[in-house]
Amino acid sequence: MPTDRKRVDAVVLGAGAAGLAAARDLSQAGLRVTVIEARPRVGGRILTVHDPRSPVPIELGAEFVHGEAPETLAVARAAGLAVLELPDVHEVATRGRFRPMGDFWHMIERMNKDLAKRVSARGKDFPVSEYLESGRVSGPSKGMLRSFVEGFYAAIPERISAKSLAEEAEDGDDESQIEGKQFRIGNGNDALMKWLRDGLDPERCDVRLSTVAQSIRWKRGRVSVTCQGADGTELPGLTARTALTTLPIAVLKAGTLKFDPAMPAKQRALALLETGQIFKIVLRFREAFWEDADFLKERREPSRGDGVGKSVNFLHAPGTELPTWWTAAPVHAPILTGWVGGVAAENLLAEEPASRLERSLVALSEVLAVPRRELETQLEAWTSHDWRADPFARGAYSYIGVNGTAAPRALGRPVDGTLFFAGEATNGEQIGTVAGAIASGRRAAREILRVLQ
Ligand SMILES: Cc1cc2nc3c(=O)[nH]c(=O)nc-3n(C[C@H](O)[C@H](O)[C@H](O)COP(=O)(O)OP(=O)(O)OC[C@H]3O[C@@H](n4cnc5c(N)ncnc54)[C@H](O)[C@@H]3O)c2cc1C
Repeated sequence: MPTDRKRVDAVVLGAGAAGLAAARDLSQAGLRVTVIEARPRVGGRILTVHDPRSPVPIELGAEFVHGEAPETLAVARAAGLAVLELPDVHEVATRGRFRPMGDFWHMIERMNKDLAKRVSARGKDFPVSEYLESGRVSGPSKGMLRSFVEGFYAAIPERISAKSLAEEAEDGDDESQIEGKQFRIGNGNDALMKWLRDGLDPERCDVRLSTVAQSIRWKRGRVSVTCQGADGTELPGLTARTALTTLPIAVLKAGTLKFDPAMPAKQRALALLETGQIFKIVLRFREAFWEDADFLKERREPSRGDGVGKSVNFLHAPGTELPTWWTAAPVHAPILTGWVGGVAAENLLAEEPASRLERSLVALSEVLAVPRRELETQLEAWTSHDWRADPFARGAYSYIGVNGTAAPRALGRPVDGTLFFAGEATNGEQIGTVAGAIASGRRAAREILRVLQ
């Protein structure tokens, strides 16, 4: 195996939010760093498409900044990006009738608080589905909560930990992921990644794209990494004093990156974490017909106070194949995004792309009460990315499985001052988010600096 002569201080596997944030801090602290990235681009599960025919950047992966996520907003501020606050108009759409969701967020908060009580009474964790089926919630609330758990956490209710949601109730303040404000980066989330990458000191940091890490052989103070090109050709390996792995958990679980010696403690942590699946489709129409006053008049009750006169932002239609839709608000643009998580997402992803579009149009037709043919006539373009089939993601984002609340920390714990771990799944408080990924990368950089400086 050809090997680089130069031993760097840290090799970072993965140039997503976590890997770039870590590499930036390490190189700025004076360490020599090599970043290994399998794709021909940085950003990982941030995938922004800049199509000149679209008035806004299209996000095929991460889109929203949830709550006052300080890690993401700090990057946006430093990079001078446009941070757009969403209008927070959530409506339930039932066959073309839109009504405000009202106290939906309180319903979620109540669920989480109730879960906290039940976890404490039982003295053990259990799947959220047991709560949903326990008779404590019924009727439309039950469907709404199930749809929320599947959509927001990308989770299968039979697998997600009740304790993990209960803990959100305990830290339920303004900074909670669920409640509070939501933002979008107007320039596109790839601008966050560009800022992180631009901060890598070129004298000390080398980013190798289209380079797939195959194995890490390690002993205290020394790692050697073997790599292949995207076409399977062998590439020079490299040696370093430390390695930071930021690969998605589904990639780690698949075992395509071999650790020698193996690490059973990491395998145990991985087994308690789940990968959520999402189907997300972005439709670009000729015009934003949902902004038309007559269109809205026919669908919103004239007497209602909440939301009347405001643009449509989120439409929720539990029970339909794509139960969540949103617009580009606050920007007026002819773009609608459809979203579903959990088992329903897996079912849609099992279809051919043409069938995914067809089923999306049927669902949207039901939500808006606009004939499917009319939608097709209006449709100019559509796009979607299959994260489940993507070999370098193998899914959308992580959630905590039953009995797994300690697993993110266990996964993130350094080994022998030599192997370090970051990525959204290692951040229990902000799991499944860009903010969580950035924070984890910065945490791992501090851990490495403590050992090497
Ligand atoms: C559809 C979708 C919607 C989302 N929406 C939101 C949202 O609205 N808000 C939010 O905050 N978050 C959202 N997320 C989650 C967010 O995108 C992730 O939590 C975050 O980007 C993860 O960053 P990361 O650095 O941990 O992992 P990644 O971004 O996955 O980075 C890991 C990197 O490792 C690379 N890699 C994999 N295998 C190898 C290998 N063998 N060798 C070298 N490199 C390898 C990958 O190519 C990747 O670049 C969404 C995700 C998806 C998929």
